[in-house]
Amino acid sequence: MAEGGDFDVCLQSYEYVYRPDLLKGKVAFITGGGSGIGFRIAEVFMRHQCTVVIASRNLEKVKAAAAKLERATGGKCLALPMDVRKADQILKAVDDALSHFNRIDILVNNAAGNFLCPASKLSFNAFKTVMEIDAHGTFNCSKAVFEKYMKDHGGSIVNITATLHHRGVPLQTHAGSAKAAIDAMTRHLAVEWGQYGIRINCVAPGPIGETEGMRRLGGAQLKKTTGSYDRLIRDIPAGRMGTKEDIANGAVYLVSPAGSFVTGTNLIVDGGHWLTQSTGVMQARL
Ligand code: NAP
Repeated sequence: MAEGGDFDVCLQSYEYVYRPDLLKGKVAFITGGGSGIGFRIAEVFMRHQCTVVIASRNLEKVKAAAAKLERATGGKCLALPMDVRKADQILKAVDDALSHFNRIDILVNNAAGNFLCPASKLSFNAFKTVMEIDAHGTFNCSKAVFEKYMKDHGGSIVNITATLHHRGVPLQTHAGSAKAAIDAMTRHLAVEWGQYGIRINCVAPGPIGETEGMRRLGGAQLKKTTGSYDRLIRDIPAGRMGTKEDIANGAVYLVSPAGSFVTGTNLIVDGGHWLTQSTGVMQARL
């Protein structure tokens, strides 16, 4: 973990799996790209010579992230304020991105909100909020980029989902429901927008170290010295937690020419975790 809990530092070194100029000339728009997995996707795309736009609610955060990304990679990164629930803000951000770079070849719908809560204690509003950020937000941004650029030029959309809903885990009804909607939306849009030269896929991360997601969902308790960490690792066939690079490398594959015949699919990047994980069947009533 980085000093002071700041997970969002660029890599000291990056081992190229793909050609370094793989995304040269491309522009990617990444929601929630100021932190966590979105930040690392931005970095790895930039290391492949992609120009990147990162957008989220906290402008200071995305600006600071963009400065770090530019310093580390020598590439271009534009930071924009945007709430994925607000159509007017999305349309403006997409216009701003296009006026800076003239194109958006790639959209990564990564922004999400999550917390642990039993369905019995979840307020109506809490469920709605998570659906609005994750599911509506993914549709809103896809539609805005489709209308303003991709319907005339094609492109590639990657939706960051999860595996929570594949089997159903406790305390995650809201997030699992939202991610299930995104999985379905991915297949529908792949079918409808294939004719425009647009591919739409998901990447579903498993437990990924050094992320806000893992910290909120119990990562803070998953100290290496405790039994819970060992149990989690035992549940992962690959025998380790995922890294943010694992997810970024999956996204690079999907948006690259190597993925040119791949659409409507879900690339699960979880070391096999969802196949073997204990769903945590509750001993106590929730
Ligand atoms: P994170 O660092 O908290 O990233 C979420 C980002 O979304 C933040 O940068 C946040 O920025 C942005 N965001 C939240 N609400 C927004 C809104 N209404 N409008 C615009 N941006 C918004 O979390 P993470 O762990 O990296 O998660 C990234 C993605 O991976 C999520 O889709 C998550 O569901 C998925 N995932 C993560 C894991 C994991 O182990 N971490 C596992 C499975 C799936 P602002 O606060 O500035 O808006």
